[in-house]
Amino acid sequence: MITQVVPNKRGGSVKHSFRDVQAKVNALQGAPLETGGPLLGPQKPGKKGMKTLVLDLDETLVHSSFKPHPGRQSDLQVPLLIDKVECKVHVLVRPGTLQFVETLAKNFEVVIFTASLAKYAEPLVAMLDKNRSWCSQILFRDHCTYNEQEETFVKDLSRLGRDLKDVIIIDNSPSSYCQHKENALACRSWFNDVRDRELYEFIPILKKLAKVEDVRPYLSKIGSEATHK
Ligand SMILES: [Mg+2]
Repeated sequence: MITQVVPNKRGGSVKHSFRDVQAKVNALQGAPLETGGPLLGPQKPGKKGMKTLVLDLDETLVHSSFKPHPGRQSDLQVPLLIDKVECKVHVLVRPGTLQFVETLAKNFEVVIFTASLAKYAEPLVAMLDKNRSWCSQILFRDHCTYNEQEETFVKDLSRLGRDLKDVIIIDNSPSSYCQHKENALACRSWFNDVRDRELYEFIPILKKLAKVEDVRPYLSKIGSEATHK
């Protein structure tokens, strides 16, 4: 969890999650999402007919913190304006991320879908995709459905505007794809392990899935095999 220590009125300090701080910023901006219609626009030329690979950001492709990462230099630093004060978000990038997205963008329409706010995700993705070569579209927290009981942000894939037989989501939080488990390739949360190989291991699996008629039976099989390991 990304946290920031902020002084409270009694002179102590409280920990705010990064998302809480961002929510504050967003409230100031006040930009409600228009409802109705699909979340994604039409597939871009060159992506027409491709399946859609939906990727989470935090703890799937990157790990971010307001504080520097102990003993390690950040891979990226994202400037963020909070209460008119410029902060830096220190970002570690999961091993294999760029190879993963650049390779799979040849076979898929790649979409970033994060429960974080645009203010953080947009500049981060712009840095990760410097040449605008792999990310077709970005969806943010405003595009999630909030589950009040569970206090989680759910990514409702049925709102994407894509046939669900052609949609794969990779996300470290099962709660985010709880409505579409059959579309998910579960992934371990990543924080800073430089030996992590999970994204490299996913590449050949996804290349095969790019060619099947319906991804769901295959993903369900992978999911049940992982459960019974
Ligand atoms: Mg995540």
